Amino acid sequence: MVNQKYYGYGTAPSIIRELFAYGLAQAKVVGKDKVYDYSLGNPSIPAPKKVEETIKKLLAEEDSIVLHGYSMAPGFESTREAIAANLRERFTTNAQASEIFMTCGCAPALVSVAKALTTSPESEFLCVAPYFPEYNVFFTCEGGKVSVVPADTENFQINLEELEARTNENTVAVVLNNPNNPSGVVYTEETLNKIADILRKKEEEFGHPIYIIADEPYRELVYGGVKVKFIPEVYDNTIVCYSWSKSLSLPGERIGYVYVPATCADAKDLYSAIAGAAREIGSVCPPTLIQRVVEECVGCEPDLVAYDENRTLLYESLTSYGYECAKPDGAFYMWVKAPNGDAMAFSEKAKLEHNLLVVPGDGFACPGFFRLSYCVSNEMIRNSLPAFKAMIESYK
Ligand code: PLP
Repeated sequence: MVNQKYYGYGTAPSIIRELFAYGLAQAKVVGKDKVYDYSLGNPSIPAPKKVEETIKKLLAEEDSIVLHGYSMAPGFESTREAIAANLRERFTTNAQASEIFMTCGCAPALVSVAKALTTSPESEFLCVAPYFPEYNVFFTCEGGKVSVVPADTENFQINLEELEARTNENTVAVVLNNPNNPSGVVYTEETLNKIADILRKKEEEFGHPIYIIADEPYRELVYGGVKVKFIPEVYDNTIVCYSWSKSLSLPGERIGYVYVPATCADAKDLYSAIAGAAREIGSVCPPTLIQRVVEECVGCEPDLVAYDENRTLLYESLTSYGYECAKPDGAFYMWVKAPNGDAMAFSEKAKLEHNLLVVPGDGFACPGFFRLSYCVSNEMIRNSLPAFKAMIESYK
């Protein structure tokens, strides 16, 4: 006998993993250069040079017992202080080391927050479509519910009327992923201010805090001078979840944090509950070596030239063929309307006829669109363009 919930998670099919596996298998049949795989969000630019240099320096200079040993459960004080100082420098926030809890990536940060905020089976987390499918797992982990705010399919900001209508006495938090996976859209300051107004009103009406969980692994991935508003600047009850998985191309190193600003309601208790939840899932003492690396590289900025070139090439080519795309200002995703509205059928046809692998939006709670991860080589994009053209023409 095993736990059926976890058995279900462990055996559930994942369209992204299936597409990726199909691509690998097809590459052996038709050649790697004839498979156009836009399925995975795995960074394709190397980590900044300073990351590698810092790893080498630490290995050469530091005591290896310390470097490969345990840190304190919430992470090193010096690492948390470096992160807090960096947040203070960049944003209007008074972050302190004691408000930062280091985690093994952004996923356990989100799970720990979900656990800490779920107080009954009625506890509800509002997720704005389109959203990262793992939210369905993360935010129900402690027995609470996910409630979906339907997408604003015009410009993929946030459907404020729907958000307001779905905020009720059981709402404990609204999850905002900015820049957004899968749409590549950056929520504007105006959108965020309006959400803050709605939530403050609802907090008063229901007499309890309603948090924003800011899921920000793509915070630094923005193009064309677009700014990502730091949500604690517009809404006090914001909990920030972050990782360097995408910004420093370190997804395999599993390093991130939760930041609970002192401005949050019940900030100290909330921090302690997040620490307790992280303990339960075993996301404590994140890798010591990598904590020390991010401590020294916290100010490093990613070199986004390659992503930006990919974004421009793909956006300009696809729109010139007649595809409709959300404006891709951030992350490394493009969100495209399926020509006849059936993204599942489009994805299957593109796969079978052209080895073109695109992820249908159904899993992101937004059917009718598909996601392209353009963290790939520019050459692959160039080679794939005839397939995109043939696909849309086949629908005319
Ligand atoms: N949140 C979003 C929106 C993501 O896209 C991802 C990963 O793809 C995560 C969280 C998890 O990030 P990490 O790999 O740091 O756990």
